[in-house]
Amino acid sequence: MTIEGIASDSAEAPLGEYDVIIIGAGPAGLSAGIYARRAGLECVILEKGVAGGQVLTSPSIENYPGFPEVNGMKLMEIMADHAKRYVEIKEGEEVLRIRGGEKFELTTTSGRYSTRAIILASGGQHRKLEVSGEEGMIGKGVSYCATCDGFFYKGREVIVVGGGNTALTDALYLNSIGCNVTIVHRRNSFRADRHLQESVTQHKMSVLWDTVVDEIIGDDNVSSVRLRNLRNGTTHVKQLQGVFVAVGEVPSSQLAAELGLDMDPGGFVTVDRSFRTNVPFVYAAGDVAGGIRQIVAAVHGGAAAALSCFEDLMNPYYRR
Ligand code: NAP
Repeated sequence: MTIEGIASDSAEAPLGEYDVIIIGAGPAGLSAGIYARRAGLECVILEKGVAGGQVLTSPSIENYPGFPEVNGMKLMEIMADHAKRYVEIKEGEEVLRIRGGEKFELTTTSGRYSTRAIILASGGQHRKLEVSGEEGMIGKGVSYCATCDGFFYKGREVIVVGGGNTALTDALYLNSIGCNVTIVHRRNSFRADRHLQESVTQHKMSVLWDTVVDEIIGDDNVSSVRLRNLRNGTTHVKQLQGVFVAVGEVPSSQLAAELGLDMDPGGFVTVDRSFRTNVPFVYAAGDVAGGIRQIVAAVHGGAAAALSCFEDLMNPYYRR
């Protein structure tokens, strides 16, 4: 029985009973699924959106071994298809609550599940600028995904905010499809990989250094931004149509808090070298666990978490 699309966690029979449930179908979750199933564990991946995670929005990836240059959506399609050979991925199913006890009980938007272990691979979400006008203009000129929305800004004036790999990859992509791009960065140097910086230089792209966005302005759609130079405090208004925000991500760790997992001040779940958390039979991998936020690291974390889970379930360090 469901109320407003939310399944009850009452006495209804569970939709499934598993050795391990993996939450999130990004690179970490997919890798965990492959390794868990190949180790013989009964498992399922629950994904609130679609399989692939944040990598789906990356226009180009050049540092995942075996793929010299690949579009993020393509890479994740290949990875998800691979995982599906072993493990069921339930897309569009969000985990709402988790209860501990003899076994873990998960309540999702579709029903209730019971599991002996959990691998949390819930990733992260885009960090916002948190400036005036941002929230109200999402989808009306403010975007967090250049590949999703860039097409609409061909021939238009846009800024990309940030100085990391995402910002520079997005800026190069938007430039390549014919947007007039200015990169706005709060410091006077980028933290992005050197080859991305070199590409930005080669393409003679405009950069506003030491500059932040103070306000996003517009009625129905974005029409300008108020920028502030951090060195001299001067402000100016720049006319434009698009603001692409690429200032990093925050971990999706609400479920971690519910489970009582230790987290660092940034909200990233604390794990040991084997991706065990402080709670027995709960593991975390990928962006939710912080560290170097790279696909290759997420894939490693998922695999290691699944193998630790197998070890603990088969030859328990913990008594349940
Ligand atoms: P990131 O590396 O954390 O960079 C975020 C950028 O946004 C930084 O330049 C930061 O400035 C700036 N920033 C943060 N908060 C801000 C604010 N409130 N206002 C203005 N600017 C702000 O994030 P990312 O670029 O999304 O990358 C995340 C992870 O994914 C990284 O590990 C990255 O290497 C990886 N990634 C890899 C690739 C690739 O290798 N192909 C592609 C994309 C992402 P400061 O520099 O001053 O701190």
